[in-house]
Amino acid sequence: MTLTPAQNQAQKSLQKPAFLDGTVKGLFIDNEFVEPREHALIDALDPADNSLLAQVHAAGPADVDRAVASARAALEGPWSRVSAAERGRLLWRLADLVEEHADELALLETLNNGKPLRLARGDDLPETANVFRYFAGFATKNGGQTIDVADVDAHVYTLHEPIGVTAGIIPWNYPLALAAWKLAPALAAGNVMILKPAEQTPLSILRLAELVREAGFPPGVVSILNGYGHVAGEAITQHPGIDKVAFTGEMSTGQRVAVAASGTLKRVTLELGGKSPNVVFADADPEQLRAGALWGIFYNMGQDCSAGSRLLVEASIYDDVVANLVEDAAALKVGPGIEADTDIGALVSAGHTERVLGYLELAAHEGSVQAGGGRAAGLEHGNFVAPTVITGTPEDARVVHEEIFGPAVVVLPFRDEDDLVAQANGTAFGLAAGIWTRDVGRAHQVARRLRAGTVWVNTYGDADAAVPFGGTRMSGYGRDKGAYAMAEYSQVKAVWVNTARPA
Ligand code: NAD
Repeated sequence: MTLTPAQNQAQKSLQKPAFLDGTVKGLFIDNEFVEPREHALIDALDPADNSLLAQVHAAGPADVDRAVASARAALEGPWSRVSAAERGRLLWRLADLVEEHADELALLETLNNGKPLRLARGDDLPETANVFRYFAGFATKNGGQTIDVADVDAHVYTLHEPIGVTAGIIPWNYPLALAAWKLAPALAAGNVMILKPAEQTPLSILRLAELVREAGFPPGVVSILNGYGHVAGEAITQHPGIDKVAFTGEMSTGQRVAVAASGTLKRVTLELGGKSPNVVFADADPEQLRAGALWGIFYNMGQDCSAGSRLLVEASIYDDVVANLVEDAAALKVGPGIEADTDIGALVSAGHTERVLGYLELAAHEGSVQAGGGRAAGLEHGNFVAPTVITGTPEDARVVHEEIFGPAVVVLPFRDEDDLVAQANGTAFGLAAGIWTRDVGRAHQVARRLRAGTVWVNTYGDADAAVPFGGTRMSGYGRDKGAYAMAEYSQVKAVWVNTARPA
């Protein structure tokens, strides 16, 4: 049963988190919520019915200046005297607080993002806490090396130092988890960070700001600047007082960020989009691949950078795979994220929904729509799109090459391994890939031939705080998570000491 808009409102008021108390939420600078220098507001909406949840202040360039001054003062002041062990303790405490408040944070995430509560509570919140906890452990393990050199009188060692004032700019699809991906390694390595959430989804991150303060981080170590990309985002990327920008978002925005950051030569990491191939060989386990093909694309409503949005299927089983996928897609329950049995929640905003629907119209011209293809029936009051399966597209179709970032998969046949590799590597992106086969040798060989930052074999979308994530080619550069992320937030200093004694 799907709730009517009135029932949806009634259910929300029963579950409403205390954080949504009707006040306008501020920018988080110096551990306080403050108003911007120039008045500007963002409406934080519920995508299930586009009703207003809260208003938040939006940062402008003067607020970025203020946050940078606060961050620099912390970096050169109290934070510089906080030991690595103490940084680890603070991050561990933050992980504890995230776990303590996981129900409330998950609800805020679902209300503001549209994703199923089951997913927010079951996946996003554990991921967020795990990432803080993993990097809590890393704070004390980021030491340098001693290096043997040709000169026997030289004692040479390296220090791994923080880069300085860093900024994280993140999208709306996994607000808390992506905030943790940026904040945790940055702070573990001794940096301070200014974080800009996506304008669509500031609420759970503002609640996280309160937990940052409660955990005991000194003022200025973490700043949260809600704001629009073309205002606050651009001011951040151009700011001479910011030493590094860690960006996650669309490919075209990443290109702008790289150009804007070049003026001050700040370090940049870019985690961008994808059009990831999910590859099915004829010998794959039928049940395993059936679930993997379905959830490879429809997880988080397809609003996932690594979504398996191109399903490449060996020709001999193509018709069967399509038939199963169409049946499974049609059986998914579309509805508000707060309903317990929802599989597919609302897309994040009305604007994004229009963009996705535009691609579905295009798909009907470029190929043939086997399931879905438009808004979900009976749910026109929110941003709901029916799970969509597209076939019959030529290899150069736009829907084969461009990121739709919604619940839509293109299914394409391949003849043999070489044809598969050519198709799989045939887009500009290189973020992720899946392989379904029972042939172990083939799995490893194909994994090497695919251009991707992550390859999953007989599984799709698995994640862990210890495993690096990022892309190649137009999916960007740099890695989040794992030991590799510590390097992204550290700079290396070599120290030469002459140990020869004067004669
Ligand atoms: P987006 O690029 O529109 O926005 C991302 C962030 O950048 C937002 O905070 C936005 O305000 C900001 N921004 C926008 N214009 C800016 C500018 N000119 N300067 C600085 N900042 C600016 O992306 P989105 O629509 O929010 O998110 C979806 C995209 O994110 C998809 O392409 C998806 O693949 C990608 N993504 C990538 C990863 C990854 O790890 N590779 C993870 C999640 C999402």
